[in-house]
Amino acid sequence: MKYAIVIPDGCADEPLDALGGRTPLQAARLPNMDRIARTGVVGRANNVPDALTPASDVATLSLFGYDPLKVYTGRAPLETAAMGIHLGPHDYAIRCNLVHVPDGHMRDFTAGHISSEEGAPLINALQHELGGREVAGGVIEFHPGVQYRNILVWRGTSAASPFEGTKCQPPHDIPDKAVAEYLPKGPGGDLLIALMEASKPILAAHPVNAKRIADGKKAATQVWLWGQGKAPHIRPFGETYGPRGAIISAVDLVRGVGVLLGWHRIDVPGATGYLDTDYAAKGRYGVEALGAFDLVCVHVEAPDEASHEGRADEKIKALERIDEHVVGPLLAALPRYGDWRILVSPDHRTTLRTRAHAYGAVPFAVAGTGIRPAGQTSYDEPTAAAAGMSFDPGWHLMNWFLGR
Ligand SMILES: [Zn+2]
Repeated sequence: MKYAIVIPDGCADEPLDALGGRTPLQAARLPNMDRIARTGVVGRANNVPDALTPASDVATLSLFGYDPLKVYTGRAPLETAAMGIHLGPHDYAIRCNLVHVPDGHMRDFTAGHISSEEGAPLINALQHELGGREVAGGVIEFHPGVQYRNILVWRGTSAASPFEGTKCQPPHDIPDKAVAEYLPKGPGGDLLIALMEASKPILAAHPVNAKRIADGKKAATQVWLWGQGKAPHIRPFGETYGPRGAIISAVDLVRGVGVLLGWHRIDVPGATGYLDTDYAAKGRYGVEALGAFDLVCVHVEAPDEASHEGRADEKIKALERIDEHVVGPLLAALPRYGDWRILVSPDHRTTLRTRAHAYGAVPFAVAGTGIRPAGQTSYDEPTAAAAGMSFDPGWHLMNWFLGR
């Protein structure tokens, strides 16, 4: 059996007045996803337990068939896995966003979608000035990642955990809010706040920011620290479920979850993790990977990014491109291998109204060998809400999808 999973990140939404009372999934033209709905089953899955925060880290673990309440330790350690950074048993990884906070408000959690080429020298400057410094008995290291998504590692020397119980705020969920109310709290909070403060003058003095300002772009005014955690213990997917998997994603977090599951990571040139990603290249590489792997997962971040920017038109465009360039080619290629199944599902909800992630079930669609049509005609939230099939907790969906 060959399996394909397509993740339009954050695509699940609400009906919008601007779309005539429809959701983006309803408003978009999605012939291939609708074909999966017609020939298969639309249902819903709740990938985010109440005790955790709705985001791709927790929700992707669920979608891949793991109970986040058991395996989730934080977002950053998942990303460090993708970056090839090893974490020792006492180490913490901490997400280190480059952000634009010009007036005490979180104006842009991506620092104007700063490129990796501009972000790396900024993070390297922080490493030069602050790296190697001892903080709470550990030593800190800054590591450049993709675009605004970078990592701070705290190398601990003993079992003492200064960031155990620290509460940090994901910056993408506080658009335009005053940051003073959302600074790290609890044990270790002051240490993280001090590092965020220390980043300000170093970044302000950097030529990359001077050039961005001269070009009319948003400066990276500071780092924002969050998503901290120790290395998780995850039983490989092959051992847990059987199939040998591969993952295609431009986002370190999602790649990292795949890598920790033991999936092969396929890097696609032109995949940006943003609205301008090369959808067709992702589809091509996905189809090609079907030859060598039992399960191929293609993740596309663009619908989530469009939601964070509050752009309904871009969200619809991203969905239509995923349908045409990723779902379509996979759907055409899968039957060549005999038995096959395809799953389309976002990880979590991201609503245009709030421009933030949200709790709640997401719609999924599954078609292929052994799946009997449920009489549904389109892949969208109302169809899923009316469906008989529901997985709560959502991590149970994988077992059913695999037909085990
Ligand atoms: Zn998001």
